[in-house]
Amino acid sequence: MRKCTECGEGMQQLKAKTPEGIEYDYYKCRKDGEEIVDMKQLHEVAERYRVLKKYNVKLSKWGLSLGIRIPKELVEKYKLKNEKEVSIIPEKTGIRIITS
Ligand SMILES: [Zn+2]
Repeated sequence: MRKCTECGEGMQQLKAKTPEGIEYDYYKCRKDGEEIVDMKQLHEVAERYRVLKKYNVKLSKWGLSLGIRIPKELVEKYKLKNEKEVSIIPEKTGIRIITS
């Protein structure tokens, strides 16, 4: 069983939800109420966030290049405008778009 870093007492594993409704596990000390989330639990939450925030869009041919259509929700969120310049950064598993 996991021990509390504050008092050494046993901690129990509980479930909670983020404001977005993502359920996650955390540990709470039986004695002083100290709460912690370990790396494994943290990674699980991060993974669920990734899936939740994923958008599937289609590429369309634009001359010799391919254009990507950015959903309205993201256009508003990042205040994108027609002809606005953004940066794209090639990464190992994909392309990152930097909007500012
Ligand atoms: Zn404690």
